Amino acid sequence: MLRLSELRLPLGHAPEALAPAIHARLGLEPADLLGFVIARRANDARRKSAIMMVYTLDLTLRDEDAVLARFPGDPNLKRRPDTDYRFVTRAEPSEDRRPVVVGAGPCGLFAGLILARMGFRPIILDRGKAVRERTKDTWGLWRRRELTPESNVQFGEGGAGTFSDGKLWSQVKDPRHLGRKVLEEFVAAGAPPEILTEAHPHIGTFRLVTMVESMRRTIEELGGEYRWQTRVDDVELERAPDGSRRLAALRLSTGETLAADTVVLAVGHSARDTFAMLHERGVHVEAKPFSIGVRIEHPQSWIDRARFGACAKHPDLGAAAYTLSHHCRDGRTVYSFCMCPGGRVVAATSEEGRVVTNGMSQYSRAEFNANSGLVVGIDPDRDYPGHPLASIALQRELESLAFKAGGSDYSAPAQTVGDLLARRPSTALGSVVPSYKPGVTPTDLSTCLPAFVLEAFREALPVFGRQIENYDHPDAVMTGVETRTSSPIRIRRGSDFQSVNVSGLFPAGEGAGYAGGILSAAIDGIKVAEAVALKMQADRPRQ
Ligand code: FAD
Repeated sequence: MLRLSELRLPLGHAPEALAPAIHARLGLEPADLLGFVIARRANDARRKSAIMMVYTLDLTLRDEDAVLARFPGDPNLKRRPDTDYRFVTRAEPSEDRRPVVVGAGPCGLFAGLILARMGFRPIILDRGKAVRERTKDTWGLWRRRELTPESNVQFGEGGAGTFSDGKLWSQVKDPRHLGRKVLEEFVAAGAPPEILTEAHPHIGTFRLVTMVESMRRTIEELGGEYRWQTRVDDVELERAPDGSRRLAALRLSTGETLAADTVVLAVGHSARDTFAMLHERGVHVEAKPFSIGVRIEHPQSWIDRARFGACAKHPDLGAAAYTLSHHCRDGRTVYSFCMCPGGRVVAATSEEGRVVTNGMSQYSRAEFNANSGLVVGIDPDRDYPGHPLASIALQRELESLAFKAGGSDYSAPAQTVGDLLARRPSTALGSVVPSYKPGVTPTDLSTCLPAFVLEAFREALPVFGRQIENYDHPDAVMTGVETRTSSPIRIRRGSDFQSVNVSGLFPAGEGAGYAGGILSAAIDGIKVAEAVALKMQADRPRQ
Protein backbone atom coordinates (compact mmCIF):
# COMPACT_ATOMS: atom_id res chain seq x y z
CA MET A 1 0.00 0.00 0.00
CA LEU A 2 1.16 3.54 -0.70
CA ARG A 3 0.41 6.59 1.43
CA LEU A 4 -0.47 9.77 -0.45
CA SER A 5 -0.56 12.93 1.64
CA GLU A 6 -1.49 16.57 1.03
CA LEU A 7 -4.26 15.81 -1.45
CA ARG A 8 -6.38 18.94 -1.38
CA LEU A 9 -10.01 19.31 -2.40
CA PRO A 10 -12.35 22.25 -1.92
CA LEU A 11 -14.60 22.37 1.14
CA GLY A 12 -17.96 20.75 0.41
CA HIS A 13 -16.66 18.42 -2.31
CA ALA A 14 -18.64 15.25 -2.99
CA PRO A 15 -17.13 11.99 -1.60
CA GLU A 16 -16.99 10.70 -5.21
CA ALA A 17 -14.52 13.47 -6.05
CA LEU A 18 -11.70 11.73 -4.16
CA ALA A 19 -11.01 8.92 -6.67
CA PRO A 20 -10.69 11.23 -9.72
CA ALA A 21 -8.46 13.54 -7.66
CA ILE A 22 -6.14 10.60 -6.89
CA HIS A 23 -6.09 9.59 -10.58
CA ALA A 24 -5.23 13.13 -11.60
CA ARG A 25 -2.55 13.58 -8.91
CA LEU A 26 -0.74 10.35 -9.82
CA GLY A 27 -1.55 10.18 -13.52
CA LEU A 28 -3.43 6.88 -13.12
CA GLU A 29 -6.00 5.16 -15.28
CA PRO A 30 -9.09 4.43 -13.11
CA ALA A 31 -8.36 0.68 -13.30
CA ASP A 32 -4.90 1.25 -11.73
CA LEU A 33 -6.47 2.28 -8.42
CA LEU A 34 -7.93 -0.81 -6.76
CA GLY A 35 -9.10 0.99 -3.62
CA PHE A 36 -8.25 3.58 -0.98
CA VAL A 37 -8.98 4.47 2.64
CA ILE A 38 -8.76 7.86 4.33
CA ALA A 39 -5.90 7.84 6.85
CA ARG A 40 -6.30 11.46 7.92
CA ARG A 41 -8.55 14.39 7.10
CA ALA A 42 -7.91 18.00 8.07
CA ASN A 43 -8.96 21.42 6.90
CA ASP A 44 -6.78 24.29 5.84
CA ALA A 45 -8.61 27.52 6.68
CA ARG A 46 -5.68 29.89 6.26
CA ARG A 47 -7.55 31.47 3.33
CA LYS A 48 -11.13 31.91 4.52
CA SER A 49 -12.37 32.45 0.95
CA ALA A 50 -10.87 29.14 -0.22
CA ILE A 51 -10.97 26.64 2.65
CA MET A 52 -9.59 23.28 1.56
CA MET A 53 -9.94 19.74 2.89
CA VAL A 54 -6.54 18.08 3.10
CA TYR A 55 -6.32 14.28 2.90
CA THR A 56 -3.82 11.58 3.65
CA LEU A 57 -4.93 8.42 1.83
CA ASP A 58 -3.78 4.79 1.81
CA LEU A 59 -3.95 3.47 -1.74
CA THR A 60 -4.15 -0.06 -3.07
CA LEU A 61 -2.72 0.03 -6.59
CA ARG A 62 -2.35 -2.43 -9.40
CA ASP A 63 1.38 -1.73 -9.59
CA GLU A 64 2.71 0.11 -6.53
CA ASP A 65 6.35 -0.08 -7.56
CA ALA A 66 5.69 1.46 -10.96
CA VAL A 67 3.75 4.37 -9.44
CA LEU A 68 6.40 4.97 -6.79
CA ALA A 69 9.12 4.94 -9.45
CA ARG A 70 7.33 7.70 -11.36
CA PHE A 71 7.57 10.06 -8.31
CA PRO A 72 11.13 9.73 -7.00
CA GLY A 73 11.74 12.00 -3.99
CA ASP A 74 8.09 13.07 -3.76
CA PRO A 75 7.68 13.75 -0.01
CA ASN A 76 3.93 13.17 -0.24
CA LEU A 77 4.04 9.67 -1.75
CA LYS A 78 5.57 6.87 0.32
CA ARG A 79 4.97 3.29 1.31
CA ARG A 80 2.32 3.11 4.02
CA PRO A 81 4.01 2.92 7.44
CA ASP A 82 3.43 -0.18 9.53
CA THR A 83 1.23 1.11 12.36
CA ASP A 84 0.29 -2.27 13.84
CA TYR A 85 0.99 -2.65 17.54
CA ARG A 86 2.97 -5.72 18.66
CA PHE A 87 3.27 -6.79 22.27
CA VAL A 88 6.86 -6.78 23.49
CA THR A 89 6.36 -9.98 25.47
CA ARG A 90 3.71 -12.29 26.97
CA ALA A 91 3.42 -13.48 30.54
CA GLU A 92 4.29 -17.12 31.21
CA PRO A 93 1.14 -19.11 31.94
CA SER A 94 2.56 -19.81 35.40
CA GLU A 95 3.15 -16.10 36.19
CA ASP A 96 1.64 -15.47 39.60
CA ARG A 97 3.21 -12.09 40.49
CA ARG A 98 0.93 -9.14 39.79
CA PRO A 99 2.02 -5.63 38.85
CA VAL A 100 0.20 -2.81 40.64
CA VAL A 101 -1.00 0.29 38.80
CA VAL A 102 -1.79 3.33 40.94
CA GLY A 103 -4.26 5.63 39.20
CA ALA A 104 -7.04 4.84 36.73
CA GLY A 105 -6.59 7.88 34.48
CA PRO A 106 -5.58 7.47 30.81
CA CYS A 107 -2.02 6.52 31.77
CA GLY A 108 -2.98 3.93 34.38
CA LEU A 109 -5.83 2.68 32.20
CA PHE A 110 -3.52 1.97 29.26
CA ALA A 111 -0.77 0.59 31.47
CA GLY A 112 -3.38 -1.76 32.97
CA LEU A 113 -4.90 -2.67 29.63
CA ILE A 114 -1.59 -3.50 27.93
CA LEU A 115 -0.39 -5.47 30.95
CA ALA A 116 -3.67 -7.37 31.00
CA ARG A 117 -3.50 -8.05 27.27
CA MET A 118 0.03 -9.43 27.75
CA GLY A 119 -1.28 -11.83 30.41
CA PHE A 120 -0.06 -10.01 33.53
CA ARG A 121 -3.07 -9.50 35.77
CA PRO A 122 -2.69 -5.96 37.11
CA ILE A 123 -4.20 -4.68 40.32
CA ILE A 124 -5.39 -1.12 39.65
CA LEU A 125 -5.83 1.15 42.66
CA ASP A 126 -7.57 4.51 42.56
CA ARG A 127 -8.38 6.88 45.40
CA GLY A 128 -11.61 7.93 43.64
CA LYS A 129 -14.79 6.09 42.72
CA ALA A 130 -16.01 4.21 39.65
CA VAL A 131 -17.04 6.65 36.95
CA ARG A 132 -20.85 6.72 37.42
CA GLU A 133 -20.61 7.45 41.14
CA ARG A 134 -17.82 9.88 40.47
CA THR A 135 -19.99 11.76 37.98
CA LYS A 136 -22.60 12.38 40.70
CA ASP A 137 -19.93 13.74 43.07
CA THR A 138 -18.49 15.97 40.37
CA TRP A 139 -21.90 17.46 39.62
CA GLY A 140 -22.26 18.07 43.36
CA LEU A 141 -19.65 20.82 43.13
CA TRP A 142 -20.99 22.26 39.91
CA ARG A 143 -24.64 22.29 41.01
CA ARG A 144 -24.63 22.46 44.81
CA ARG A 145 -21.18 23.85 45.67
CA GLU A 146 -20.36 20.58 47.48
CA LEU A 147 -16.84 19.29 46.88
CA THR A 148 -16.00 15.64 47.53
CA PRO A 149 -12.21 15.80 47.97
CA GLU A 150 -11.59 12.19 46.91
CA SER A 151 -14.11 12.06 44.04
CA ASN A 152 -14.20 14.98 41.64
CA VAL A 153 -12.94 16.29 38.28
CA GLN A 154 -9.39 15.22 39.14
CA PHE A 155 -9.86 11.96 41.05
CA GLY A 156 -11.65 8.76 40.10
CA GLU A 157 -12.10 6.35 37.22
CA GLY A 158 -11.00 7.82 33.89
CA GLY A 159 -8.74 10.37 35.58
CA ALA A 160 -8.61 14.10 34.99
CA GLY A 161 -9.73 14.06 31.38
CA THR A 162 -13.04 12.26 31.89
CA PHE A 163 -15.03 15.47 32.14
CA SER A 164 -13.25 17.20 29.30
CA ASP A 165 -13.34 18.04 25.64
CA GLY A 166 -11.68 14.68 25.08
CA LYS A 167 -9.19 16.11 22.62
CA LEU A 168 -7.08 13.25 21.38
CA TRP A 169 -4.04 14.64 19.72
CA SER A 170 -0.60 15.31 20.97
CA GLN A 171 2.68 16.68 19.74
CA VAL A 172 4.84 13.96 21.29
CA LYS A 173 7.20 12.10 18.98
CA ASP A 174 5.58 8.75 18.28
CA PRO A 175 7.75 6.70 15.92
CA ARG A 176 6.08 3.45 17.03
CA HIS A 177 2.58 4.76 16.29
CA LEU A 178 1.46 4.07 19.86
CA GLY A 179 -1.07 6.88 19.52
CA ARG A 180 -2.76 4.81 16.83
CA LYS A 181 -2.97 1.89 19.27
CA VAL A 182 -4.62 4.19 21.83
CA LEU A 183 -7.19 5.42 19.31
CA GLU A 184 -7.93 1.87 18.13
CA GLU A 185 -8.53 0.74 21.72
CA PHE A 186 -10.82 3.75 22.23
CA VAL A 187 -12.81 2.84 19.11
CA ALA A 188 -13.07 -0.77 20.32
CA ALA A 189 -14.45 0.67 23.57
CA GLY A 190 -17.12 2.70 21.78
CA ALA A 191 -15.48 5.88 20.49
CA PRO A 192 -16.65 7.11 17.08
CA PRO A 193 -14.42 5.61 14.32
CA GLU A 194 -13.82 9.11 12.89
CA ILE A 195 -11.21 9.62 15.62
CA LEU A 196 -8.94 7.35 13.55
CA THR A 197 -8.97 9.75 10.62
CA GLU A 198 -9.68 13.25 11.91
CA ALA A 199 -6.54 15.38 12.24
CA HIS A 200 -7.79 16.78 15.55
CA PRO A 201 -10.06 14.09 16.97
CA HIS A 202 -12.11 14.60 20.12
CA ILE A 203 -14.64 12.51 22.01
CA GLY A 204 -16.42 14.75 24.50
CA THR A 205 -17.46 13.90 28.03
CA PHE A 206 -20.41 11.51 27.84
CA ARG A 207 -18.72 9.05 25.50
CA LEU A 208 -15.58 9.01 27.62
CA VAL A 209 -17.65 7.82 30.57
CA THR A 210 -18.99 4.76 28.72
CA MET A 211 -15.61 4.07 27.12
CA VAL A 212 -13.70 3.86 30.39
CA GLU A 213 -16.36 1.48 31.70
CA SER A 214 -15.99 -0.71 28.65
CA MET A 215 -12.20 -0.75 29.02
CA ARG A 216 -12.60 -1.66 32.68
CA ARG A 217 -14.70 -4.68 31.69
CA THR A 218 -12.00 -5.76 29.22
CA ILE A 219 -9.27 -5.53 31.85
CA GLU A 220 -11.37 -7.48 34.34
CA GLU A 221 -12.18 -10.17 31.77
CA LEU A 222 -8.42 -10.55 31.23
CA GLY A 223 -7.87 -11.15 34.95
CA GLY A 224 -7.14 -7.60 36.09
CA GLU A 225 -8.69 -6.17 39.22
CA TYR A 226 -9.80 -2.67 40.27
CA ARG A 227 -9.97 -1.32 43.80
CA TRP A 228 -11.81 1.99 44.22
CA GLN A 229 -11.53 4.44 47.11
CA THR A 230 -8.09 2.98 47.74
CA ARG A 231 -5.47 5.68 48.06
CA VAL A 232 -1.77 4.94 48.30
CA ASP A 233 -0.72 6.81 51.43
CA ASP A 234 2.81 5.55 51.85
CA VAL A 235 5.51 3.37 50.32
CA GLU A 236 7.72 0.85 52.07
CA LEU A 237 11.24 0.75 50.69
CA GLU A 238 14.01 -1.75 51.38
CA ARG A 239 17.69 -2.19 50.60
CA ALA A 240 18.58 -4.45 47.70
CA PRO A 241 21.67 -6.67 48.10
CA ASP A 242 23.72 -4.10 46.15
CA GLY A 243 22.74 -1.36 48.61
CA SER A 244 20.31 0.43 46.31
CA ARG A 245 16.73 1.07 47.40
CA ARG A 246 13.76 -0.77 46.02
CA LEU A 247 10.02 -0.79 46.52
CA ALA A 248 8.62 -3.44 48.86
CA ALA A 249 5.02 -2.50 49.67
CA LEU A 250 2.29 0.12 49.47
CA ARG A 251 0.36 1.33 52.51
CA LEU A 252 -3.23 1.98 51.53
CA SER A 253 -5.94 4.26 52.91
CA THR A 254 -7.97 1.11 53.61
CA GLY A 255 -5.46 0.18 56.30
CA GLU A 256 -4.01 -2.64 54.21
CA THR A 257 -0.33 -3.06 53.38
CA LEU A 258 -0.03 -4.45 49.87
CA ALA A 259 3.24 -6.23 49.10
CA ALA A 260 4.32 -4.77 45.78
CA ASP A 261 7.71 -4.70 44.09
CA THR A 262 6.55 -3.53 40.65
CA VAL A 263 4.31 -0.45 40.69
CA VAL A 264 3.23 1.96 37.95
CA LEU A 265 2.66 5.31 39.62
CA ALA A 266 0.20 7.18 37.40
CA VAL A 267 -1.38 9.54 39.92
CA GLY A 268 -1.92 12.64 37.75
CA HIS A 269 -0.90 16.22 38.47
CA SER A 270 -3.22 16.82 41.41
CA ALA A 271 -1.94 14.12 43.78
CA ARG A 272 -0.15 16.70 45.90
CA ASP A 273 -0.29 14.60 49.08
CA THR A 274 1.27 11.68 47.21
CA PHE A 275 4.06 13.88 45.82
CA ALA A 276 4.83 15.14 49.35
CA MET A 277 4.90 11.58 50.69
CA LEU A 278 7.26 10.41 47.94
CA HIS A 279 9.56 13.37 48.53
CA GLU A 280 9.59 12.65 52.27
CA ARG A 281 10.51 9.03 51.58
CA GLY A 282 13.46 10.19 49.50
CA VAL A 283 12.11 9.33 46.05
CA HIS A 284 13.77 11.77 43.62
CA VAL A 285 11.27 14.55 42.88
CA GLU A 286 12.18 17.83 41.17
CA ALA A 287 10.35 21.04 40.25
CA LYS A 288 9.51 21.60 36.59
CA PRO A 289 8.03 24.48 34.59
CA PHE A 290 4.27 24.77 34.18
CA SER A 291 1.82 27.58 33.42
CA ILE A 292 -0.78 29.67 35.23
CA GLY A 293 -3.57 31.95 34.09
CA VAL A 294 -7.30 31.96 33.40
CA ARG A 295 -10.03 30.50 31.14
CA ILE A 296 -11.13 33.01 28.53
CA GLU A 297 -14.59 32.82 26.92
CA HIS A 298 -16.04 34.21 23.71
CA PRO A 299 -19.23 33.26 21.89
CA GLN A 300 -18.35 30.35 19.61
CA SER A 301 -19.98 32.22 16.72
CA TRP A 302 -17.27 34.92 16.97
CA ILE A 303 -14.52 32.31 16.72
CA ASP A 304 -16.28 30.49 13.85
CA ARG A 305 -16.64 33.72 11.91
CA ALA A 306 -13.07 34.82 12.56
CA ARG A 307 -11.64 31.44 11.50
CA PHE A 308 -14.02 30.34 8.73
CA GLY A 309 -15.62 33.58 7.45
CA ALA A 310 -18.68 32.89 5.27
CA CYS A 311 -18.10 29.14 5.62
CA ALA A 312 -18.78 29.23 9.39
CA LYS A 313 -21.21 26.45 10.37
CA HIS A 314 -20.31 24.35 7.33
CA PRO A 315 -20.95 20.74 8.48
CA ASP A 316 -17.49 19.58 7.35
CA LEU A 317 -15.81 22.14 9.58
CA GLY A 318 -17.58 21.87 12.94
CA ALA A 319 -16.93 24.41 15.68
CA ALA A 320 -13.71 26.34 15.08
CA ALA A 321 -10.71 25.92 17.36
CA TYR A 322 -7.63 28.08 17.73
CA THR A 323 -4.11 28.04 19.11
CA LEU A 324 -2.38 31.28 19.97
CA SER A 325 1.01 32.16 21.35
CA HIS A 326 2.84 35.41 22.07
CA HIS A 327 6.39 35.99 23.32
CA CYS A 328 6.35 39.01 25.63
CA ARG A 329 9.00 41.67 25.95
CA ASP A 330 9.98 40.35 29.42
CA GLY A 331 10.70 36.90 28.02
CA ARG A 332 7.46 35.27 29.20
CA THR A 333 5.18 33.41 26.82
CA VAL A 334 1.38 33.72 26.82
CA TYR A 335 -0.47 30.95 25.02
CA SER A 336 -3.86 29.35 24.62
CA PHE A 337 -4.15 26.00 26.31
CA CYS A 338 -6.66 23.15 25.98
CA MET A 339 -9.09 25.13 23.83
CA CYS A 340 -12.66 23.76 24.01
CA PRO A 341 -14.91 24.81 21.10
CA GLY A 342 -18.62 24.92 21.95
CA GLY A 343 -18.02 23.87 25.53
CA ARG A 344 -18.06 25.19 29.06
CA VAL A 345 -15.69 26.22 31.81
CA VAL A 346 -15.72 23.82 34.74
CA ALA A 347 -14.82 23.92 38.42
CA ALA A 348 -11.82 21.63 38.66
CA THR A 349 -10.56 21.83 42.24
CA SER A 350 -9.85 18.72 44.27
CA GLU A 351 -9.10 20.61 47.48
CA GLU A 352 -11.49 22.41 49.81
CA GLY A 353 -11.40 26.19 49.90
CA ARG A 354 -9.75 26.47 46.48
CA VAL A 355 -10.93 27.42 42.99
CA VAL A 356 -9.43 25.98 39.81
CA THR A 357 -10.77 26.31 36.26
CA ASN A 358 -10.60 24.01 33.26
CA GLY A 359 -12.76 23.33 30.19
CA MET A 360 -14.96 20.57 28.80
CA SER A 361 -17.41 19.93 25.98
CA GLN A 362 -19.66 17.26 24.56
CA TYR A 363 -18.98 15.45 21.27
CA SER A 364 -21.32 17.85 19.44
CA ARG A 365 -19.43 20.92 20.67
CA ALA A 366 -22.72 22.74 20.40
CA GLU A 367 -22.72 24.91 23.51
CA PHE A 368 -22.80 28.68 23.17
CA ASN A 369 -19.28 29.68 24.19
CA ALA A 370 -15.74 28.81 23.12
CA ASN A 371 -13.31 28.64 26.01
CA SER A 372 -9.59 28.20 26.33
CA GLY A 373 -6.95 28.39 28.97
CA LEU A 374 -4.98 31.62 28.55
CA VAL A 375 -1.80 30.98 30.45
CA VAL A 376 1.71 32.24 31.08
CA GLY A 377 4.67 29.91 31.35
CA ILE A 378 6.53 30.00 34.69
CA ASP A 379 9.66 28.19 35.77
CA PRO A 380 11.34 27.04 38.98
CA ASP A 381 14.47 29.19 38.89
CA ARG A 382 12.58 32.42 38.33
CA ASP A 383 9.23 31.89 40.03
CA TYR A 384 9.38 29.21 42.74
CA PRO A 385 13.01 28.52 43.61
CA GLY A 386 14.41 26.53 46.47
CA HIS A 387 12.30 23.44 47.06
CA PRO A 388 11.03 20.74 44.70
CA LEU A 389 7.48 21.20 46.01
CA ALA A 390 7.52 25.03 46.08
CA SER A 391 5.45 24.97 42.91
CA ILE A 392 2.63 23.23 44.76
CA ALA A 393 2.69 25.87 47.50
CA LEU A 394 2.37 28.51 44.76
CA GLN A 395 -0.56 26.69 43.11
CA ARG A 396 -2.33 26.35 46.45
CA GLU A 397 -1.81 30.00 47.30
CA LEU A 398 -3.30 31.19 43.99
CA GLU A 399 -6.21 28.73 44.20
CA SER A 400 -7.01 29.89 47.77
CA LEU A 401 -6.86 33.54 46.70
CA ALA A 402 -9.23 32.74 43.82
CA PHE A 403 -11.65 31.06 46.24
CA LYS A 404 -11.63 34.19 48.40
CA ALA A 405 -11.94 36.54 45.41
CA GLY A 406 -14.92 34.52 44.17
CA GLY A 407 -16.77 34.97 47.46
CA SER A 408 -15.62 31.86 49.38
CA ASP A 409 -18.47 29.70 48.07
CA TYR A 410 -16.76 28.06 45.05
CA SER A 411 -17.84 30.86 42.71
CA ALA A 412 -14.86 31.82 40.56
CA PRO A 413 -13.45 35.34 40.16
CA ALA A 414 -14.02 36.82 36.70
CA GLN A 415 -13.05 40.00 34.89
CA THR A 416 -13.87 41.24 31.42
CA VAL A 417 -11.07 41.82 28.95
CA GLY A 418 -12.17 45.48 28.69
CA ASP A 419 -11.76 45.98 32.44
CA LEU A 420 -8.48 44.07 32.58
CA LEU A 421 -7.00 46.21 29.80
CA ALA A 422 -8.33 49.40 31.48
CA ARG A 423 -6.86 48.28 34.84
CA ARG A 424 -10.16 48.48 36.70
CA PRO A 425 -12.07 45.78 38.58
CA SER A 426 -15.14 44.34 36.93
CA THR A 427 -18.34 45.11 38.79
CA ALA A 428 -20.62 43.65 36.12
CA LEU A 429 -20.24 41.55 32.99
CA GLY A 430 -21.26 42.44 29.43
CA SER A 431 -22.70 40.50 26.52
CA VAL A 432 -20.60 37.37 27.04
CA VAL A 433 -22.27 35.13 29.61
CA PRO A 434 -19.68 32.99 31.42
CA SER A 435 -20.50 29.29 31.54
CA TYR A 436 -18.66 28.41 34.77
CA LYS A 437 -20.83 26.63 37.31
CA PRO A 438 -21.59 27.18 40.15
CA GLY A 439 -21.14 30.82 39.08
CA VAL A 440 -18.69 33.72 38.83
CA THR A 441 -18.07 36.91 40.80
CA PRO A 442 -17.02 39.97 38.78
CA THR A 443 -13.89 41.31 40.41
CA ASP A 444 -10.24 42.22 39.91
CA LEU A 445 -8.06 39.27 38.90
CA SER A 446 -5.01 41.01 40.37
CA THR A 447 -6.27 39.76 43.75
CA CYS A 448 -5.43 36.19 42.78
CA LEU A 449 -2.82 36.27 39.99
CA PRO A 450 0.71 37.72 40.00
CA ALA A 451 1.10 41.12 38.34
CA PHE A 452 3.46 39.70 35.69
CA VAL A 453 0.68 37.37 34.47
CA LEU A 454 -1.78 40.22 34.03
CA GLU A 455 0.85 42.40 32.35
CA ALA A 456 1.59 39.55 29.96
CA PHE A 457 -2.14 39.30 29.14
CA ARG A 458 -2.28 43.08 28.54
CA GLU A 459 0.52 42.75 26.03
CA ALA A 460 -0.79 39.60 24.34
CA LEU A 461 -4.54 40.24 24.07
CA PRO A 462 -4.35 43.06 21.47
CA VAL A 463 -1.93 40.90 19.46
CA PHE A 464 -4.37 37.97 19.60
CA GLY A 465 -7.17 40.38 18.64
CA ARG A 466 -5.35 41.05 15.38
CA GLN A 467 -5.16 37.30 14.69
CA ILE A 468 -8.73 36.42 15.72
CA GLU A 469 -11.18 39.26 15.30
CA ASN A 470 -12.87 40.17 18.60
CA TYR A 471 -10.49 38.07 20.69
CA ASP A 472 -9.77 41.19 22.75
CA HIS A 473 -13.41 42.32 22.70
CA PRO A 474 -14.12 44.23 25.93
CA ASP A 475 -16.92 41.79 26.85
CA ALA A 476 -14.83 38.59 26.57
CA VAL A 477 -14.68 37.05 30.05
CA MET A 478 -11.67 35.73 31.92
CA THR A 479 -12.37 33.34 34.80
CA GLY A 480 -9.62 32.30 37.21
CA VAL A 481 -7.54 30.56 38.15
CA GLU A 482 -6.07 28.01 35.76
CA THR A 483 -3.21 26.52 37.76
CA ARG A 484 -3.24 22.84 36.84
CA THR A 485 -2.10 23.04 33.26
CA SER A 486 0.48 20.30 33.76
CA SER A 487 2.38 18.73 36.60
CA PRO A 488 4.52 21.19 38.56
CA ILE A 489 6.96 18.39 39.42
CA ARG A 490 8.82 15.53 37.78
CA ILE A 491 9.49 12.18 39.44
CA ARG A 492 12.60 11.46 37.48
CA ARG A 493 12.99 8.05 35.91
CA GLY A 494 15.82 6.36 34.07
CA SER A 495 15.94 4.77 30.65
CA ASP A 496 14.38 1.64 32.20
CA PHE A 497 11.35 3.78 33.17
CA GLN A 498 12.04 3.20 36.90
CA SER A 499 12.60 5.96 39.44
CA VAL A 500 16.25 7.01 39.32
CA ASN A 501 16.70 6.09 42.97
CA VAL A 502 14.00 3.54 43.83
CA SER A 503 13.77 0.44 41.66
CA GLY A 504 10.42 -1.18 41.12
CA LEU A 505 8.70 2.23 41.08
CA PHE A 506 7.66 3.29 37.57
CA PRO A 507 6.60 7.00 37.62
CA ALA A 508 4.29 7.54 34.65
CA GLY A 509 1.95 9.91 32.91
CA GLU A 510 1.19 13.52 33.60
CA GLY A 511 1.73 13.56 37.36
CA ALA A 512 5.26 12.23 37.00
CA GLY A 513 5.98 14.91 34.41
CA TYR A 514 6.13 12.57 31.41
CA ALA A 515 2.91 13.49 29.59
CA GLY A 516 0.53 16.37 29.05
CA GLY A 517 -2.94 15.42 27.87
CA ILE A 518 -5.02 12.30 27.42
CA LEU A 519 -3.23 10.86 24.38
CA SER A 520 0.33 11.41 25.59
CA ALA A 521 -0.58 10.04 29.04
CA ALA A 522 -2.06 6.92 27.42
CA ILE A 523 1.01 6.50 25.20
CA ASP A 524 3.24 6.79 28.26
CA GLY A 525 1.07 4.15 29.96
CA ILE A 526 1.78 1.74 27.11
CA LYS A 527 5.54 2.38 27.23
CA VAL A 528 5.67 1.90 30.98
CA ALA A 529 3.55 -1.27 30.79
CA GLU A 530 6.08 -2.68 28.34
CA ALA A 531 8.97 -1.79 30.66
CA VAL A 532 7.15 -3.39 33.60
CA ALA A 533 6.46 -6.58 31.64
CA LEU A 534 10.08 -6.87 30.49
CA LYS A 535 11.36 -6.31 34.03
CA MET A 536 9.00 -8.92 35.45
CA GLN A 537 10.23 -11.41 32.90
CA ALA A 538 13.88 -10.55 33.54
CA ASP A 539 13.35 -10.93 37.30
CA ARG A 540 11.74 -14.34 36.88
CA PRO A 541 13.79 -17.04 38.57
CA ARG A 542 15.24 -19.37 35.92
CA GLN A 543 13.56 -22.80 35.93
P1 FAD B 1 -4.92 11.51 35.67
O1 FAD B 1 -5.88 11.48 34.55
O2 FAD B 1 -4.87 12.74 36.50
O3 FAD B 1 -5.24 10.25 36.59
C1 FAD B 1 -4.64 10.06 37.83
C2 FAD B 1 -5.50 9.11 38.66
O4 FAD B 1 -4.75 8.75 39.83
C3 FAD B 1 -6.80 9.72 39.16
O5 FAD B 1 -7.87 8.90 38.79
C4 FAD B 1 -6.64 9.78 40.69
O6 FAD B 1 -7.84 9.52 41.37
C5 FAD B 1 -5.60 8.72 40.95
N1 FAD B 1 -4.77 8.95 42.14
C6 FAD B 1 -4.12 10.08 42.48
N2 FAD B 1 -3.41 9.90 43.61
C7 FAD B 1 -3.62 8.62 44.00
C8 FAD B 1 -3.16 7.84 45.10
N3 FAD B 1 -2.32 8.33 46.01
N4 FAD B 1 -3.63 6.58 45.22
C9 FAD B 1 -4.49 6.05 44.31
N5 FAD B 1 -4.94 6.75 43.25
C10 FAD B 1 -4.50 8.02 43.08
N6 FAD B 1 -6.32 16.48 28.00
C11 FAD B 1 -6.49 16.28 26.68
O7 FAD B 1 -5.62 15.68 26.04
N7 FAD B 1 -7.62 16.70 26.03
C12 FAD B 1 -8.61 17.37 26.70
O8 FAD B 1 -9.61 17.73 26.08
C13 FAD B 1 -8.45 17.59 28.07
N8 FAD B 1 -9.39 18.25 28.79
C14 FAD B 1 -9.29 18.32 30.14
C15 FAD B 1 -10.35 18.86 30.88
C16 FAD B 1 -10.32 18.87 32.26
C17 FAD B 1 -11.51 19.41 33.01
C18 FAD B 1 -9.18 18.38 32.93
C19 FAD B 1 -9.11 18.41 34.44
C20 FAD B 1 -8.09 17.87 32.23
C21 FAD B 1 -8.15 17.83 30.82
N9 FAD B 1 -7.12 17.28 30.06
C22 FAD B 1 -7.28 17.11 28.71
C23 FAD B 1 -5.86 16.83 30.68
C24 FAD B 1 -5.90 15.31 30.84
O9 FAD B 1 -7.06 14.99 31.54
C25 FAD B 1 -4.69 14.81 31.58
O10 FAD B 1 -3.55 15.19 30.84
C26 FAD B 1 -4.69 13.29 31.70
O11 FAD B 1 -5.88 12.86 32.32
C27 FAD B 1 -3.50 12.81 32.50
O12 FAD B 1 -3.59 11.41 32.62
P2 FAD B 1 -2.91 10.61 33.80
O13 FAD B 1 -3.43 9.23 33.69
O14 FAD B 1 -1.45 10.83 33.76
O15 FAD B 1 -3.44 11.28 35.16
